[in-house]
Amino acid sequence: MNLRRIAQASFLLSICSLALAQNLADRSSNERWQQRANYYMEVEMDVESNQFFGEQKIDYTNNSPDELNQVFYHLYFNAFQPGSMMDVRSRTIADPDRRVRDRISKLGEDEIGYQKITSLKQNGTDVKYEVVGTVLEVQLNQPIKPGETVTFDMVWNGQVPLQIRRSGRDNREGIRYSMAQWFPKMAEYDYQGWHADEYIGREFYGVWGDYELKLTIDKDYVVGGTGYLQNPQEIGHGYEDEGQTVNQKVVNGKLTWHFVAPDVHDFMWAADPDYLHNKLTMKNGIVLHFLHQKGQNEENWEKLRPLTEMSFEYANEYFGQYPYKQFSVIQGGDGGMEYPMSTLITGQRGSLLGVTIHESMHDWYHGVLGSNEALHPWMDEGFTSYASSRISAHIRYETTDAEKPETTMENIGSRSGQGGYLNSAKSGREEALSTHSDHYEYNGIYSAAAYGKGAVWMSQLGYVIGEEARDKGLLEYFNQWKFKHPNPNDVLRVFEEVSGLELDWYNEYFVYTTKQIDYAVGEVVGEGEKTNITLNKVGKMPMPVDVVITYKDGTKEVHYMALRMMRGEKPAETNDKRIVHEDWPWTNPTYNFSIDRPISEVASVVIDPSGRMADIDKENNKWAAEKLENKK
Ligand SMILES: [Zn+2]
Repeated sequence: MNLRRIAQASFLLSICSLALAQNLADRSSNERWQQRANYYMEVEMDVESNQFFGEQKIDYTNNSPDELNQVFYHLYFNAFQPGSMMDVRSRTIADPDRRVRDRISKLGEDEIGYQKITSLKQNGTDVKYEVVGTVLEVQLNQPIKPGETVTFDMVWNGQVPLQIRRSGRDNREGIRYSMAQWFPKMAEYDYQGWHADEYIGREFYGVWGDYELKLTIDKDYVVGGTGYLQNPQEIGHGYEDEGQTVNQKVVNGKLTWHFVAPDVHDFMWAADPDYLHNKLTMKNGIVLHFLHQKGQNEENWEKLRPLTEMSFEYANEYFGQYPYKQFSVIQGGDGGMEYPMSTLITGQRGSLLGVTIHESMHDWYHGVLGSNEALHPWMDEGFTSYASSRISAHIRYETTDAEKPETTMENIGSRSGQGGYLNSAKSGREEALSTHSDHYEYNGIYSAAAYGKGAVWMSQLGYVIGEEARDKGLLEYFNQWKFKHPNPNDVLRVFEEVSGLELDWYNEYFVYTTKQIDYAVGEVVGEGEKTNITLNKVGKMPMPVDVVITYKDGTKEVHYMALRMMRGEKPAETNDKRIVHEDWPWTNPTYNFSIDRPISEVASVVIDPSGRMADIDKENNKWAAEKLENKK
């Protein structure tokens, strides 16, 4: 766009953005179907043998346009057996997870995990099935027609593995049971077909449904997890309302806990006889539960409670309203891991707050949006990392006297995720973000992609479309796509809509390739009263360019070149004078522009001083008069 058209265009733009705000299309309602699996489970735990008996009924509704002749269940616990794919993967990958390494290969008979199916019926009739590693393959007697609901009744026995990764018994902090991925779970079938991924230790994808669990366990155990307890007066253990009389119904030394969880795609529980249990009711009525080991790091757990509320308040405002009535922060597992309405975290750490913010923020991207995070881990880990870095910064300001500085081109937005991503990009081992999480060559490269580059996708988008549109899009994305499994195109389309810009190129380069961004300030040459500036596109990925020119009298100007293929430009983000130049066609390796002041008055020319653009070489982003003078 040329200079003459700017005034007119920005007026038009503001009208356009008004119109957009009033009439955002909601593609999620008419472009996507999804299956539904409602679970009813009764489970009895034997805390001596660490084995349990389970009965499960799933009402499964086929909302797809396809007739299904088979279904698949995940049997995650079978991964914890010597020779499993998870075991082999961990022993052969160059940089194994230190928690796993060769530990699975050394598990004894009473330490392995398993799910042994003893019976499976479809609408009351036995069906043929085969256990293949961590997947149960079921050949149906009768196909499930589009729109039909069938019932699967299963009886199974399970053994809880010694804690290796995520789930298990007796973790290193002495928590008896971290029960994640513990029940036979229907695999998801979506517009891409079945996703019966083998469990080798990474990400998850599940079918939404209503869950009901009756869990019978030794009466001394305190239980926490996904779901609302329906019988607190028969349980106690801190679940009863204040002043409520508890009438424990102990049968054979055990209590039966009755949980329900609406609209979740997984169900985790944890249990330990020494859990301290505290509750905090937020101003909006959401109840936060904290369960942790008596006598360990108690002071920090106490401090954590009000800060978790602060985190939820910020998340509700900026990332979408948390839709459940409860969230539980539970000591267990082997690090930090997210589950619907809950998290398992190790409890003796100094970083209790950081891990709680991250894992609870997953409830937005993993729990409620529920993208296929095995296939698009960056849409979960990346967006979660981005959001948690903002929450952490917010809490830092709220809990100290530090004044929030005025927004400038130097400090606007965040660089969330850049450190990890840039290291990986420079390592030469980077793989595209579109890689399935299980199939990266290196664990470290996977993390840099999913957490780092995924967070950059979101923080850098603030640079591309402006922080305001990005923030608006974050809320719009959540509201349009909650409970609908959005994919990379779905999220991008929301940001196209809120910004009015064409962004297909952003995913095409940043998600599907490893092409890198590198812009440089080239020549800065005086020509009488003018100064001519050349910018170079050194990297292969094109981006719009913010250039800030600082003059020796202290004044600043923002010069902006949109990419031509964006079909528009982002609004000004600060009150600095901004000059919008003709847009930059991606084919052109250089860009020349002039300013109407002599070079003697120019102090510096800097590309993206905010650093939000994940430029692989920031050294060449700056030209400074001072440097030249020093050289003379
Ligand atoms: Zn995470």
